[in-house]
Amino acid sequence: MPLKIEQAHLNDESGQNEVLNEPKKVPTAEELCDDVVLLWRQEPAFEDVDMGVLFEKLTLRNPTWEITLPEVDDTLLHHNLSFSDESLPFTYADQVGSLHHPSLNDKQAEKIQLRETRSHNGLLNWSVFAQKDLRQDEVIFYEHEPLTHILPLDKTSLAEKGRSCASCGHSLTQSSQFTVKNMLDCQQCSAVWCSKHCKRLDSATHSFLKHPVSKNKKVNAAGWLAFEEVCRENAMHSAYAVGIIYARILLDKQEGNHIRKQFESLAQVSQSLREKAADSTNVGGTFDKSTGAISSDKHWLWSQSFDSFCKAFPTCAEGGLDLETYLEYIGRFNINQLEGQLFTIYSQLNHNCEPNVRHELDAKSGLKVFARKNIKKGEELFTTYVNPLHGVTLRRRELLVNWGFLCSCPRCQRDLSARRNRKTDITISLSETSVSPGSTSRRKSSLKSSKPDLSELLKNGQEFDLEIPTEFGFDRRRKSVRFDDVVLTAVEE
Ligand SMILES: [Zn+2]
Ligand SMILES: [Zn+2]
Ligand SMILES: [Zn+2]
Repeated sequence: MPLKIEQAHLNDESGQNEVLNEPKKVPTAEELCDDVVLLWRQEPAFEDVDMGVLFEKLTLRNPTWEITLPEVDDTLLHHNLSFSDESLPFTYADQVGSLHHPSLNDKQAEKIQLRETRSHNGLLNWSVFAQKDLRQDEVIFYEHEPLTHILPLDKTSLAEKGRSCASCGHSLTQSSQFTVKNMLDCQQCSAVWCSKHCKRLDSATHSFLKHPVSKNKKVNAAGWLAFEEVCRENAMHSAYAVGIIYARILLDKQEGNHIRKQFESLAQVSQSLREKAADSTNVGGTFDKSTGAISSDKHWLWSQSFDSFCKAFPTCAEGGLDLETYLEYIGRFNINQLEGQLFTIYSQLNHNCEPNVRHELDAKSGLKVFARKNIKKGEELFTTYVNPLHGVTLRRRELLVNWGFLCSCPRCQRDLSARRNRKTDITISLSETSVSPGSTSRRKSSLKSSKPDLSELLKNGQEFDLEIPTEFGFDRRRKSVRFDDVVLTAVEE
């Protein structure tokens, strides 16, 4: 019996007529960008197609949208989602830099060297070089402790109730007897630490923020709790982290500003500048998975969180901290953080899509950096800021929106030229397919074959560690994700 293609509706029982009867609408730039990013997540091969093919796909996904090809082209260009000319997208890497010299310990200085290049705006830029020949898999350096321990934001509620460690956030399995015997509980609130190590790391900051003595005018305990709440409500991990770092800087005054100097040795850029390069409202997008605060009201949200920050730290204005500095702190945290923590030497490594180092991070022993291949004395060390298993278009977009540069490393150049050749093939195979909705499934399969796959990545010595850099472990705020309303099914005629 012959089969014909029929549309079935997932969300609406009344069927096709409903879609046809729905009034046409012009999507906002935000809706358009979100749908494109969502499409790329669902079907990555569509990142590599011509604008005409993408436009056609969008009209199929959104039958009620009134859009034209030049408008779509223009909107995507203005949101850093598409560019035919490499000079067109907004980049900000030339405005990134640090204020201080990072300091290596003797052990680190045996194998690595930091070199400085001054950028035109007076900020410092650092690169890390091998001080001697390094063998594959050899440990290059350790950073046993991050700048300061930052409790994952989504653990703060549990920690407050004494159900997870107030320092590392691990669920507590110990008996109350063990806690009391080892004095692992706070005498003034329900906070508990999992070990003496965690208590040592956290107790000073904890007392400073939660139980300030009356002569301490730098912190308002109720204000800090309210700030934590604002961060939690909006999933603003970076704002919360900046609060903890700022508390450590205030606490550290007696010790010669060591924490501040280390923090200022990290590259900085204002979060407001970074947001100019953000590619969409972040439904399935690539920008700051840790921040959550990408929404149409983001500027309002940042200033709200800053107001709340000022109530937690009533003297911060006297210390020279205004909204712009706060946004620089946020940007600095975001471009340097590794799984929610800051490691000051690791942060100085530049990016390459084919890195020559890899890292291991665990709560007990800290950060270990290894050579991925043999490295000669004097060669620069590179890490990767993005998942190396991602295709070239996604990698470059992630780097562009989060770090402000268009990667042109040797691997990107190879991948781009391979993609240009592939694109011609895809366009040819698509032009042979009719544009009726029934052809969608066929189109998908012809596009799928063009996706970069693992075997392709493994060729030519491009072996990659299969532990993919973990996405940040905290929840980010999601808006409802829209899926196609229509599914195509083959039915008997
Ligand atoms: Zn702990
Ligand atoms: Zn306490
Ligand atoms: Zn690259």
